[in-house]
Amino acid sequence: AENQLRQSQKMEAIGQLTGGVAHDFNNLLTVILGGLETIERQLATPGKDPLARIGRAVAMARQGALRAATLTARLLAFARRQPLQPKPIDASRLVTGLADLLQRTLGATIALETVAGAGLWPALADAGELENALVNLAVNARDAMPEGGRLTIETSNACLDEDYVAGVPEPLPAGHYVLIAVSDTGCGMDQVALQKAFEPFFTTKDVGKGTGLGLSQVYGFTRQSGGHVRIYSEPGHGTTVKLYLPRCLDTRCVDTVAPQPENQASP
Ligand code: ADP
Repeated sequence: AENQLRQSQKMEAIGQLTGGVAHDFNNLLTVILGGLETIERQLATPGKDPLARIGRAVAMARQGALRAATLTARLLAFARRQPLQPKPIDASRLVTGLADLLQRTLGATIALETVAGAGLWPALADAGELENALVNLAVNARDAMPEGGRLTIETSNACLDEDYVAGVPEPLPAGHYVLIAVSDTGCGMDQVALQKAFEPFFTTKDVGKGTGLGLSQVYGFTRQSGGHVRIYSEPGHGTTVKLYLPRCLDTRCVDTVAPQPENQASP
């Protein structure tokens, strides 16, 4: 019986993994299809500066396809039982590098703003998983702002001296974190949605639109990295999702972080 239980737990884990990968993969296919549609449209009825538009669309489709290839490589690594390898990363540089793809995901009616904190600590996390998490958050923000709005991604250092109560689901342990705060000006979430948000397959979206796996990927990723995720939201007042990633304390990390402009003081 114990064997059977373990088997069914394994099946459940595989189900969640493949569901999550299919979901992330779908996000990327949307980007690729969007690029191809733009190219088709420009060829049929060329707008202003069609070559530049086609060039941008090709670059976007290419970036999406590249990330999809990374995703399948990770799936293969998992099949070979290689765990994710968290590495020192510069979160603000990662966000900047992803900005085009995120803007593409958000569409023309949503403005993307990125705010980088000065002297940001290196974080310890898997870069590919962090990118997936940010794309998932952008997809949710887009769906929460059908009439348009603003998405702000702010990176900063968070030094918590004491545990403190911080959003859903539970108090945040004291420690040094690299904080990535993702805020939208959308519809917000009610208490029920807030309590269930991280559950796999919980969705309030129409069939075919939502899978309920976006936030569960975000949760799984931050917990696996040794970090935390908190949601602050109120109906009608937008939503902020805060990713607290562990600060990389290895002194060798310093080399991988971009030098700060001279007028910004380092801590
Ligand atoms: P999905 O987006 O496929 O529904 P998620 O796990 O990403 O799955 O989100 C679960 C639910 O949480 C959503 O269906 C929605 O009700 C709510 N939600 C998530 N992010 C936001 C947001 N930024 N604004 C409003 N509601 C949100």
